[in-house]
This record gives sequence, C-alpha cells and structure tokens, in this order.
Amino acid sequence: MQKENQPVKIEKASTLGFCRGVRRAIKIVEKAAAGDKKIATLGPIVHNWQVVRNLEDMGVTIVATLDQVEGNTIAVSSHGVSPDVIATIKCHNLNVLDTTCINVRKAQNAAARFARKGYQVIIFGESTHPEVKGLLGWAGEKAIATLDIPQIECKHISGLGIIAQTTQNKQQYTDFIKGTLDRYFSSVHDFCVVNTLCEETQKRQKAALELAQRSDIMIVIGGSNSANTRKLAELCSPLVDTHLIQTADEIDPLWLAGKRTIGVTAGASTPDDIINDVIIRLSDMIRD
Ligand code: SF4
Repeated sequence: MQKENQPVKIEKASTLGFCRGVRRAIKIVEKAAAGDKKIATLGPIVHNWQVVRNLEDMGVTIVATLDQVEGNTIAVSSHGVSPDVIATIKCHNLNVLDTTCINVRKAQNAAARFARKGYQVIIFGESTHPEVKGLLGWAGEKAIATLDIPQIECKHISGLGIIAQTTQNKQQYTDFIKGTLDRYFSSVHDFCVVNTLCEETQKRQKAALELAQRSDIMIVIGGSNSANTRKLAELCSPLVDTHLIQTADEIDPLWLAGKRTIGVTAGASTPDDIINDVIIRLSDMIRD
C-alpha cells in the first residue's frame, strides 16, 4: 500500500523499446539511403511514425504499391511479405532490400514446411496485420489466421500445423493450442506446433507485467498501429490504469493525480529519444 507522503516514483520496465529486429531493419535502410540509392519502402519499415519520419528526412519514401516506386530499390519491412509480393517486385525489375526479421523468417519457413506437407496451417494472429498477411502467403491456400479456436472442415486434412504471429502472448498462444488440440484431437491424425513467438517480445511483455503489478498507472509508449505495443497495453490494462501514447504531448496530467508509482514501458519499435521525452515530461509533471 502506497503512503500519501511517499515521493512519486517513475520506473521504467527492465526491458523496453527497440528490439534487435527493428534496429537491424532501420540500419539496413539507413545504410542504403546514405549511399547513392533512391530507396522506397513498401509500407512503413516499422510501425512507428517517428522512425518513418526520420527515414523520410534521409530521402526514403513510403509507397503503398509498386507502381509508385521512383528509384529501382524497394525495401521490405521487418514484418516480411508473402512470396507473391517478392515475385511481383521482381516482375517490376526492382531490387529488394529485405529487412524481414529473422524471427518472422523462422515463422515463414515453418508455414512453408507445413504447406509442403499438405497440412492445414493455422496462424494464431491478427489476420489484417502485415506480418500475418505475409505468413498466409507462405502457408498455402487452405491456411487461416485467427485469434479464436478455429472452425475448420477436417474431412480431407492430413494434418494440422499451428504457428503464431511473433508478437502474440505466450499464455494466450498456449491456451489457443490446447483449445485447438481439444477440438480436433479425434478428427485429425497429425498435429504439429511450432513456437514462433519472438523472445524479445516475450521479455518486454514479462517486464511490463511485473512492473504493472507494483505500479499505480502504466504508460505504454509506441505506435497505435504497432501490434506488440498494443499487446503491452492490453496485458497491463486488467492490472492497472493503463494509457497508450505515441508522444509525451499526449500525457494528461490528470492521469497522475493521486498516483505514487508510475510505470513506463514501450513497444519494440519505439525509439529511445521518445521514451526519454516521456520520462522527462512525467518528471516535470510530478514536480509541478
Ligand atoms: Fe523481430 Fe521480435 Fe522485433 Fe518483431 S519484435 S522485429 S519479431 S525481434
């Protein structure tokens, strides 16, 4: 129990912010942009608009379709793409700068392996997320992406292959696996499950949960389009008053009224300077 006269404390999660995959993707694009090449990225390279704006300042453009590319090099984001997209890029005679994260690549390989075996592939993930759209492309025609226990017709299925979007939560993925096994145990002969969860994401989720348990409020920093950032907010929300913000300007001082311990975490695509801005703004607010 916090005491009224205790000083207000701001604590950062033990693991937060940029992950290895995001750092690598940004480095690859920055290096290419620093050379002669005119670089376009197919969608945002990572889900954070400040990162995207910094790259734009270096001359990197974002395109939604390949027809919009002005140079001859297109960067694929850390979320990866389907083999069809790669083939289409080649048809446009463009060079590919592939920043697909190694963890996403492992999930793509697992999906392709299952598809070659003729398995029905089930992806535990958000079907509209770019990573999952890419995975579906590797997983064969029958593949589905869902966050609920799937309803599938099992008559002609030789096996079920289950993978997850890399940024999903371990507990939710294991519950999904158990539920799916329960439902199809007597109708499907072969089951294969691959742990495609990203360790970096798991560390951030664990650290956020630990911090949420001893905080009066959690501030989660990151892009509102970032799946792993939204997941951090979703996990903390049941435990404590939680606010997802993109910049320090979004903090409402009223949130802090009566709060003695302020926890701060950030998604895997949130730059260090944005996190530092938030810490400085919070420090100013609790001093006033
Ligand atoms: Fe790769 Fe994980 Fe970072 Fe996503 S969160 S880019 S899967 S390291």
